[in-house]
Amino acid sequence: MKTITIAIDGFSSTGKSTVAKQLANKLKYIYVDTGAMYRAITLFAMQHDLIGKEHLDKTAIIAALPSLNISFKYNEKVGFAEVFLNDENVEKEIRTLQVSQFVSIISTISEVRRKLVAQQQEMGKSGGIVMDGRDIGTVVFPSAELKLFMIASAEKRGRRRYDELIERGDDVKLEEIVENVLKRDHIDSTREDSPLVKADDAIEFDNSDMTLEEQFDQIYALVEKAIGC
Ligand code: C5P
Repeated sequence: MKTITIAIDGFSSTGKSTVAKQLANKLKYIYVDTGAMYRAITLFAMQHDLIGKEHLDKTAIIAALPSLNISFKYNEKVGFAEVFLNDENVEKEIRTLQVSQFVSIISTISEVRRKLVAQQQEMGKSGGIVMDGRDIGTVVFPSAELKLFMIASAEKRGRRRYDELIERGDDVKLEEIVENVLKRDHIDSTREDSPLVKADDAIEFDNSDMTLEEQFDQIYALVEKAIGC
């Protein structure tokens, strides 16, 4: 069976990673969560006080980039690859609301994007990959065989992210989560470098009123078509 590249982009909390993981498991493809890479750099910047509510030390962040090694290791127990920053597993730390509050600012820095895009292209150069993010179909893999652009209502998206954080045991309020999701969407869609936009050849997929099974079945049918089954 032909192996392809599947690019999944879209707004925050539209269920990109859920369907990407399902597809990767079913197809035995590699799954790469590019948001985790931007989150890992954000965590580093926070740990070194290079970003905060009132400050951003862009020069120091850019200077630190060559020393930052971001990698993924598959964890059988959870069924996906967890992200490591300089050999430390940071999968849990990168998912907090605090990291979400700064990640879109860090993602506007072109030097950060250049480093991560180069690594993403290297990871996917042999195909057989499902990658999700904001610029996968437009910048990272513009010739991907299948491009999806996921959308869902703001209420559904805020509620999904809220449920995830509550399940982890985080103390958060629904309003602050919805606010963060909308704020990130705004920064991500309006930044100068690689803004979040639907690629001309991407298929828009609205999952506001769909079960996970319905979503998977419909998307898998698109995959089969792209593979040429
Ligand atoms: O996918 P996730 O919500 O974890 O992404 C976190 C943030 O990382 C996004 O809001 C965006 O600012 C940034 N990002 C990006 N480009 C990508 C993936 C994520 O700018 N390819």
